[in-house]
Amino acid sequence: MRKELIESEKMKIVSVISASVAHEIRNPLTSVRGFIQLLTQADLTAQKKAQYGSICLEELDRAEQIINDYLSLAKPQPENTDKLDIGAELEYVGKVLNSYALLNNVEIIVEFEQDLLIVGDRSKFRQSLINLAKNGIEAMLHQGGQLRITAKRDKDSIVVLIMDNGNGMTNEQIRRLGTPYFSNKEKGTGLGTMVSFNIIKSMTGKIDIRSEVGHGTEFRILFPLHS
Ligand code: ADP
Ligand code: MG
Repeated sequence: MRKELIESEKMKIVSVISASVAHEIRNPLTSVRGFIQLLTQADLTAQKKAQYGSICLEELDRAEQIINDYLSLAKPQPENTDKLDIGAELEYVGKVLNSYALLNNVEIIVEFEQDLLIVGDRSKFRQSLINLAKNGIEAMLHQGGQLRITAKRDKDSIVVLIMDNGNGMTNEQIRRLGTPYFSNKEKGTGLGTMVSFNIIKSMTGKIDIRSEVGHGTEFRILFPLHS
């Protein structure tokens, strides 16, 4: 009964979010459509053509970003229960984000204890960490810095930390984290942390956030340790 309730609650959340994501993706698509129509007019200056073209690309990038941030949550298929080696997954996340980090003058450091195992859906787990780590990199955009992604045992938990020394958050910002469309970025979607938190909670993980404005942020994720 309880499980059914949780499932129906999940479906409700998913359908509300799907509707709003569809809406968010339709906006850039509509604007791309309009600009392509303009581009097919014969008497455009080269400058106008270039301008319309770059708006189209930007809008398509934005649609792609929304889909990326939202990806795992929207997948309707049943959850996979892969055996995940956390260290290997952290290394994967570090690799995926390496070029993005380099572009932004950020060094990624991955450290972990061996044999930290949990059960979950591999692609969702990766997505949850990628969304949080990406925010860490984006928090250091202007000054550069270090993003640390670590995992270790602590008593009966596995602790995964994602730490940056970026711009940090106020208590009010921390409180609003994970609610859809809360974003302070010019091109943000405000979906990344919501998706991450949902995935982590569905894996019975707990999330603790420490942040100091101007100094940085630490996402502490705790999973129960199974023997
Ligand atoms: P987006 O990244 O598209 O803005 P997110 O849901 O990923 O959406 O993040 C929401 C907001 O939370 C961000 O716009 C940012 O203001 C804040 N935030 C999240 N992670 C961090 C971090 N590590 N450091 C500073 N701010 C953060
Ligand atoms: Mg984000």
